[in-house]
Amino acid sequence: MRFKRLRLAGFKSFVDPTELRIEDGLTGVVGPNGCGKSNLLEAIRWVMGESSPKSLRGGGMEDVIFAGTQSRPSRDFADVTLQLDNDDRTAPAQFNDGDQIEVTRRIERGLGSAYRINGKDVRQKDVQLLFADAATGAHSPALVSQGRIGAIIAAKPQERRAMLEEAAGIAGLHVRRKDAEQR
Ligand code: ATP
Ligand code: MG
Repeated sequence: MRFKRLRLAGFKSFVDPTELRIEDGLTGVVGPNGCGKSNLLEAIRWVMGESSPKSLRGGGMEDVIFAGTQSRPSRDFADVTLQLDNDDRTAPAQFNDGDQIEVTRRIERGLGSAYRINGKDVRQKDVQLLFADAATGAHSPALVSQGRIGAIIAAKPQERRAMLEEAAGIAGLHVRRKDAEQR
C-alpha cells in the first residue's frame, strides 16, 4: 500500500477543498511560517485515526475544524480523505479487493467523528487496524512531527516499546488481544 492522494476540506487552515498528490519518490511541501505545512501532516495522522487532540495541537477534537478568520466565517465540519494505492494487494484481507482504498474521516460540531473505508461506514478501530497491519498509523515513527525527535529521546522505555511495536506492524495484534480479553 502507498499513499496516493490527500483531500481536505474545512480541516484547520485548509477551509477550501484542497488536494495533494503524493507521487513516487520524495514529495516536498515548502512555504512560509504558518502556511499550513504541519497541518497537512496532521491531516494524515487525523484520518488514520488519531484520537488525541493534544497531539494535533488542539484542546478538543473539534479544534481541527476551520475556526474562521477576519474575512471568513468558521465551518461546522471537516473532511479528510486519504487515497491509498493498493496495486500490490498488500491491504488486510477485508479491504483487499481493489487497486485503491479510500479512507475518509469527517467531524461535525457536536456530532463527533465518523469514518468510512471505500464509502462504507466503519469504526475508528477498523481504520486504526488497517494502518497498524500495514505497519503504520497515526503514531508511526514514520511521521515525524515538529518536536517529535526530542520527545522520542525523552520517552519512557514503555513508550519507546510501543513505537517499536508499531514500526514492526504488531500493534494491531495487541488491540485484538485486548478486544478478545474483554469479551
Ligand atoms: P511553521 O513553518 O512555522 O512550522 P507551518 O507551515 O507548519 O508553519 P502550520 O502550523 O501547519 O504552519 O499552520 C498554522 C496555521 O494554521 C496558523 O495560521 C493557524 O492559525 C492555522 N490554523 C490552525 N488551526 C486552525 C483552525 N482550526 N482554523 C483555522 N486556522 C487554523
Ligand atoms: Mg510546522
